[in-house]
Amino acid sequence: MKRIRCPKCDEAILFDETKYAPGRSLVFECPSCNKQFRLRMPSAHDETEEEAPVYGILTVVENAFQLKQEILLHEGENVIGREVRGSSINCPIKTVDPSIDTTHCIISVKLNRQGEPKFILRDAPSGTGTFLNAEILGDRDRVTIAEGDIITIGAGTMILRYNDSED
Ligand SMILES: [Zn+2]
Repeated sequence: MKRIRCPKCDEAILFDETKYAPGRSLVFECPSCNKQFRLRMPSAHDETEEEAPVYGILTVVENAFQLKQEILLHEGENVIGREVRGSSINCPIKTVDPSIDTTHCIISVKLNRQGEPKFILRDAPSGTGTFLNAEILGDRDRVTIAEGDIITIGAGTMILRYNDSED
């Protein structure tokens, strides 16, 4: 059982939280003052960790090997490659494209003092190379990429966009 307090009269209200699904929003009515108030059940997700902010979104264009999908870019190293069983990279692509390596390229997101993200692309290295706007990257290249840039790995095309939404 969980105990909550009425926001109006501070009456203690007991309820069985195990009856309700995590993340569900419930409406209570205070038995003392009849005030109705809303409470969201904590979800399992809330207890584990805060969701890391997303700074960029890579849209992977649909082709013969894969469906359209989106890769969310977080601060730090975003390692992109073909998803395989047991792979531990943080940005796997669901694809059957054999020319995409299981670790193919990396986008590093760094924040400046104002908290603005900078996106830096490099090849992992991969067998077939990483292309930025149709130019292949050299092994030592670390290139800053921006909104609208097109990255090609294997037969796949990915387009970067910023996650500008302020909500
Ligand atoms: Zn009350």
